[in-house]
Amino acid sequence: MTTAIIVWLRHDLRLADNPALFYAAQQGRVIPVYIDDTSQQDSWAPGAASRCWLHHSLDNMHQQLNGQLRLFKGNPVDVLTQLVNDTGAKAIFWNRCYTPHAIARDSLIKQTLKSQGVEVFSYNGSLLWEPWQVSKGDGTAYKVFTPFYRNGCLNAAPPAEPLCRPELTLFNEPIPQQLSLTELDLLPHHPWKNRITDHWDISEDAAWRRLQQFTSERLREYQDARDIPSLEGTSTLSPYLQWGQISPRQIWYYSQQRGNQPGLEEALDTFLKELAWREFSYYQLYHNPAMTTENLNQRFNQFPWKHEAKHYRCWQQGRTGIPIIDAGMRELWQTGYMHNRVRMLVGSFLVKNQLQHWHHGARWFWDTLVDADLASNSTSWQWVAGCGTDSAPYFRIFNPVTQGQKFDPDGHYVRRYLPELKALPSRYIHCPWSAPDGVLNQAGVVLGSSYPLPIADLKVTRQAALQAFSSLHEQPEEKS
Ligand code: FAD
Repeated sequence: MTTAIIVWLRHDLRLADNPALFYAAQQGRVIPVYIDDTSQQDSWAPGAASRCWLHHSLDNMHQQLNGQLRLFKGNPVDVLTQLVNDTGAKAIFWNRCYTPHAIARDSLIKQTLKSQGVEVFSYNGSLLWEPWQVSKGDGTAYKVFTPFYRNGCLNAAPPAEPLCRPELTLFNEPIPQQLSLTELDLLPHHPWKNRITDHWDISEDAAWRRLQQFTSERLREYQDARDIPSLEGTSTLSPYLQWGQISPRQIWYYSQQRGNQPGLEEALDTFLKELAWREFSYYQLYHNPAMTTENLNQRFNQFPWKHEAKHYRCWQQGRTGIPIIDAGMRELWQTGYMHNRVRMLVGSFLVKNQLQHWHHGARWFWDTLVDADLASNSTSWQWVAGCGTDSAPYFRIFNPVTQGQKFDPDGHYVRRYLPELKALPSRYIHCPWSAPDGVLNQAGVVLGSSYPLPIADLKVTRQAALQAFSSLHEQPEEKS
């Protein structure tokens, strides 16, 4: 095979079930390429935690490709045009990305390259169903998750079966302008970068091990354990999905194969439904490209948000004085991840008890989550704020104390991330301000000194949120 074929890798950093790589391998000598895209103008370029993850993912991919992953930095249209000239490549293959920036960028690149006589082939490598494949009987898009999943997705053609690792013949001649991984400069310049690798093994094999371990050891308990933040009750596959070390089709089919046993039906159904929330998020973003910054429910455009920088900093740093909130925010800072239930609680606290715009929460998550995903993050923050199309109603305001008592009854999660409260009896672990002085003394807790007093009175702020919400003008809501 003499023809050179470029495979432009993006959020698909794996060898198995990689359609672009698989089909390119049948056409010629493959040039696997990653471009650090500097053309992104919409300020949703990957955040610090994502870039750290990306660094290690590229390192792993480079090793898997016998040192032949080619790295570049710049505007992809320029980099690819130059690459075609330098290598004589006849075609470019990629797996589709679905953010508004990627869609616009890729269609421009497709046009440009085609006009230069280069063939372009694109595939679905990161979704179970393409967003344009699922629609209601009248051709319009679904707005509510359950009918989207049950009627739309499950009645559509089943997701394609995963592909095996291809036999690759790699192009191994030198290419000008190629950079080293260090020259891409993806790692953040603070000690935080080590925390990510202390907590995560970042490779395609590690993603597989995690899936295998989850399905064999934890799927059975998923239904209940997934809401308990102190347990490892979920798959923690989200960052691997985000950078593509594993594909949703691999998870979908492998978990069905492993979960096909008596007694696992409900757990499997719940797990697949969660995976489908990711699909729904992509679906929503595809049909509402402005939703990264604009409320889906426009009634919220008049919401009287307040931005208090001091309280926002307390929230970011895990110093609000509300233990479950602080534990969640410190888990995020220390590991680049936060348990889903706690994400909902910290989101609700910021948006409802603090009346801060959901944008501020979404931004902080964008920079600090290793699984930061524009579709899931925007959809989830709109869900938390009550302005998404299928959201919890705004007036349902989580009480972080009762939620903590319900989902972390012995305070194991809080104690893990707030060692200063470790010795408090469980009865007071979610509300240290209600503990008698003697109990606080004995536990070595000095409120306002070793641990903050709450920055918000939960009852008062709840009332203020309800009042702010009731000031919005009614607008008929569409449900389907
Ligand atoms: P599991 O329970 O094992 O679920 C399996 C997979 O299903 C996940 O890996 C994920 O891909 C998908 N999934 C599960 N729950 C959801 C959900 N609610 N929405 C979308 N997909 C879901 N998820 C992200 O991947 N990136 C984000 O940037 C992100 N931001 C969020 C922000 C907020 C405010 C909230 C409340 C949730 C956010 N989520 C986000 C969704 C969810 O918290 C994570 O997907 C989940 O915690 C990942 O852990 P897991 O892999 O163990 O999940």
